[in-house]
Amino acid sequence: MRQRMSSSAALVVLVLAGLMSLALACREAAAPDVPWAAMQFAPPARFTLWWRLAQACSGTTGDLGSVTWYVVPNTNTLSYQGKQVYAYWMGDPDRIVVADVRRNDGAIIRHEMLHALLHRNGHPRAPFLTSCGGVVACDADCLADAGGYVPPPATAPELQPRDVGTRFEAMSLADVRDTSPVAVMVTITNPRTEPVWVKLAPRESGDFVHFTFGIIVDYDDPERITTLDSDEQGSDRFPLAAGESRRWVWDRTLDRGRYGIRGYFNVDTTARQVISIGQ
Ligand SMILES: [Zn+2]
Repeated sequence: MRQRMSSSAALVVLVLAGLMSLALACREAAAPDVPWAAMQFAPPARFTLWWRLAQACSGTTGDLGSVTWYVVPNTNTLSYQGKQVYAYWMGDPDRIVVADVRRNDGAIIRHEMLHALLHRNGHPRAPFLTSCGGVVACDADCLADAGGYVPPPATAPELQPRDVGTRFEAMSLADVRDTSPVAVMVTITNPRTEPVWVKLAPRESGDFVHFTFGIIVDYDDPERITTLDSDEQGSDRFPLAAGESRRWVWDRTLDRGRYGIRGYFNVDTTARQVISIGQ
């Protein structure tokens, strides 16, 4: 009796094991490399702007709707090809898997979007650093792949902030209710075919911190400023490789209304431009 019970128990275990491996095989055939715990999610409205930023910096076009998005709940990083990463892209069809804590991290999401737009793995220097530096995250493996940022020689020519063609693009959604995600991309470009330094002016003489990219947003009246935001660095020289563009993204949510926007790079300011949100 005891023997019969244990052999039938063993049979149950065998059958269960067989069913489980079948279930695994089915899932793998349907969606390779998407982790078990991943949940599909609809890209939020902000992703539309981030996609446009990735297109604008890289000069590529693609369909955001062709990407399927997954998040793995309660994760800081994901295992991918033996490494811990914040997110990864897979092609054919386009899928992007994101660690939970990074699902709203613009620079990380735009990095994966750029893979989808380029339709390739790896990190060629031209799109990831030269064109989209500052728009897409690029550190560790990406920086190594792309050859890293090499500082110009100490004796490289020194440009003034007005020489780097400071400009910006403001992006918002046409169809909004009370608020809209807004993204402003400020861009500078080295006009030379050689590496240069840009000499940064201090805000006040004796300052150790030098501001680089920034933005001023007003309520459709230059006297009524809503936001001043800027980036800064310790040294008074900003490096640019030959022909390189560097960018800075300002990501916020604004209420319906009209806003004046100016971008700047150190002491160089763009013309003010008025944008309308939901009006
Ligand atoms: Zn990557």
